[in-house]
Amino acid sequence: MDFDYDLFVLGAGSGGVRASRMSASYGAKVAVAESMLLGGTCVNVGCVPKKLFVYGSHFHEEFQDAKNYGWDVPPSRFDWPTLRDNKTNEIKRLNGIYNNLLDNAGVTLYDAHARLLDAHTVQVGEQTVTARYILIATGGWPVMPEIPGIEHAISSNEAFYLPDFPKQVTVIGGGYIAVEFAGIFAGLGAKTTLLYRGELFLRGFDDSIRAFVKEEIEKKGVELLFETEATHIHKQEDGSLRLDLTSGGTLDADTVLCATGRSPKTQGIGLEDAGVALGANGEVLINDSYQTNVDNIDAIGDVTDRIQLTPVAIEEAMCLSSNLFTDQPKRQMDYQNIATAVFCQPNIGTVGLTEAEAALEHAGDMDIYESQFKPMKHTLSGRDERTLLKMIVCRSTDRVLGIHMVGPDSGEIVQGLAVAMVAGATKAQFDATVGIHPTAAEEFVTLRSVSRQA
Ligand code: NDP
Repeated sequence: MDFDYDLFVLGAGSGGVRASRMSASYGAKVAVAESMLLGGTCVNVGCVPKKLFVYGSHFHEEFQDAKNYGWDVPPSRFDWPTLRDNKTNEIKRLNGIYNNLLDNAGVTLYDAHARLLDAHTVQVGEQTVTARYILIATGGWPVMPEIPGIEHAISSNEAFYLPDFPKQVTVIGGGYIAVEFAGIFAGLGAKTTLLYRGELFLRGFDDSIRAFVKEEIEKKGVELLFETEATHIHKQEDGSLRLDLTSGGTLDADTVLCATGRSPKTQGIGLEDAGVALGANGEVLINDSYQTNVDNIDAIGDVTDRIQLTPVAIEEAMCLSSNLFTDQPKRQMDYQNIATAVFCQPNIGTVGLTEAEAALEHAGDMDIYESQFKPMKHTLSGRDERTLLKMIVCRSTDRVLGIHMVGPDSGEIVQGLAVAMVAGATKAQFDATVGIHPTAAEEFVTLRSVSRQA
């Protein structure tokens, strides 16, 4: 049977664009449909604009820290529209780059919503096209909790485009997005409160990291209310918001940001008509080869609700394209030792197992190294900010099982160490590595004494 395309991709986010380009480079005839902006969540309402905001929010501390270094910094004032609009212009530039990348790769771009009519047929805008393979790469979308008055709250999507900068912000949630935005809002000058339903936020991260980040975030003036939930959001006459809390109290805010997770975007794209099976959270179910229950339909990235990280979607795209359109040996992504950073302030960088995860297999056979110190910059600035490094080592094999850090540039540092982890480094190899002095990173190769055995 002849098809219009070898591959039709739904969604031009990180995964969809990479799969389109790579497949085209292997000679496949490829089309991709995107009804929103090119680059998906990461480029438009995620990683990229978030990091620009994090940079923006850090300047007030830089101005303060400059004083003891001899700088006389005049009073500064923050202008939200400047940051917001410069960020938007940069995003538009990136949208253009994505467009060129697809164009140069010979991929046909449909600026339209696509919907499957059956396993090989797609309606895209007014047209109907056929494809041998179809890739679902539609990503995810913020989930809002079901509480009365939730329509007055925003998600991270809107936080990037606020018309006015709020004086008082409440962030609901305790994951990546909540802690990152709490830092952004507080850094830019808003009185910021973070509400988290559990005992301690950042569930899933190493417990030492979670406790340490709590202290550091509090030092920066963010109010943390744990074991607290909002039960109602009221809009008051002056336009401000009042939250009723499970603690019995209330909390006022101009802006309430819900960062309570993201769910797969599987509605309205005809998955039921094509017979694609979904899981309990609406995620597209796939096997080890990214194949759904329908042979010629694959899925990668956030829509599969596994690891919601851009580099994961990109690597999945690389494997899938190679497997579909080359004779190379089958490529499979290694999900072990995926490094990640949380751009809260200070940053978290982590790779490998948490102590709790490592204990499942190695309890009684672990050496834990932990080191806390004041970053050198703050010996002069006087800022009360500390850095934490943690390494988890299997005592009998000497293998490093996990590396965790909280401190400036943790993401940059841990990215390098992730190479050592993937290579299966031992503690002895870390010890044999000469440090770069004076850096925070050198502490990872000078951890001499075991903090405790576990
Ligand atoms: P997460 O899944 O990380 O966190 C969701 C948070 O919301 C949890 O603290 C959860 O609590 C809480 N929550 C969930 N439902 C409710 C509810 N009904 N009421 C109150 N609280 C609730 O989601 P995010 O939205 O922060 O981010 C989504 C994903 O995007 C991340 O998991 C990450 O993979 C990715 N991301 C990555 C970034 C990076 O690499 N730097 C940055 C931003 C996002 P509980 O713990 O109790 O379940």
